Amino acid sequence: MNNKAQHLSRRTVLASAGAAAAATLVDVQSHQAHAAAEMLGPSVPTHYRFKLGEFEVTTILDGAIQVPTVNGIFGQDQKAEDVAALMNANHLPGDKMEIGFTPVVVNTGKEVVLFDSGNGAARRPKAGNLLVALKQAGYAPEEIDAVVLTHFHPDHIGGLMEDGKPAFPNARYVAGEIEYGFWTAPDKAEGRVGKLANTHVKPLASKMTFVKPDQEASPGITAIDAFGHTPGHMGYHIESGKGRLMLIADACNHYVASMQRPDWHVKFDMDKDAAAATRKKLLDMAAAEKIPVAGYHMPFPAVGFVERRDIGYRWAPVSYQFNL
Ligand SMILES: [Zn+2]
Repeated sequence: MNNKAQHLSRRTVLASAGAAAAATLVDVQSHQAHAAAEMLGPSVPTHYRFKLGEFEVTTILDGAIQVPTVNGIFGQDQKAEDVAALMNANHLPGDKMEIGFTPVVVNTGKEVVLFDSGNGAARRPKAGNLLVALKQAGYAPEEIDAVVLTHFHPDHIGGLMEDGKPAFPNARYVAGEIEYGFWTAPDKAEGRVGKLANTHVKPLASKMTFVKPDQEASPGITAIDAFGHTPGHMGYHIESGKGRLMLIADACNHYVASMQRPDWHVKFDMDKDAAAATRKKLLDMAAAEKIPVAGYHMPFPAVGFVERRDIGYRWAPVSYQFNL
């Protein structure tokens, strides 16, 4: 007899003796002492899919890490207490935060296109789950026809190779011309990003197309100049029929700090002023034209809308807009 059956039989006996109130009390107490389910820990989502015109877009969670600082990364040029105050005003702690990593799959009907490759399975304990989550989303690595790289930071190119082999064996690749040239230059070979570019991107160069802003990566998918975060960082317009989505990659990396205070310096922006100018240019466009946005480091599912505010912008996470 399981616990639930025991509760039931005791309740039945006591109730039949005319002690309904006491039975309720006993039942609640014994139930609390014998929860049938174990504590399961926080749940982790894997993917979020919606239709965009004739395309199907799936955001895939590669993972998320918790870091013990905010102003060490966002608002480096601000007072720590001002950064903490903005976080607190938005229901967030001022001294720690979470950074998620969300690659995007677009099935155009002609090609399955993956934007960025996540951290790679071995790089971080709480990220690098792209291949597992991709499978749960319904895609095999062999089904990825094209991998588009927004820029070459390790959390975007780390998943291109697994165990020294291409993780997406049938894919062609699209990379920014400037970005590729910058990170594969001899003077970058000993740096962290340069080393990874040499082991994870360079071996794929024979299958790579190099694009500039306004050029197409695939029909309906057009590169946007988003330089600043890195010298060749690019976003992408994704358009099918009336459906539009702006993939801004790392142009805006915190849904509060970088939206509400777009001028604040961000540790990972290589050119702080150019990155801020790009951020405002893309967010202005998204807000004015009401274009939904996919942002690599926005909280999962990493899709939302942008509203203008007196200073900066507000991130409005997606709800049911795409289901209607
Ligand atoms: Zn990134």
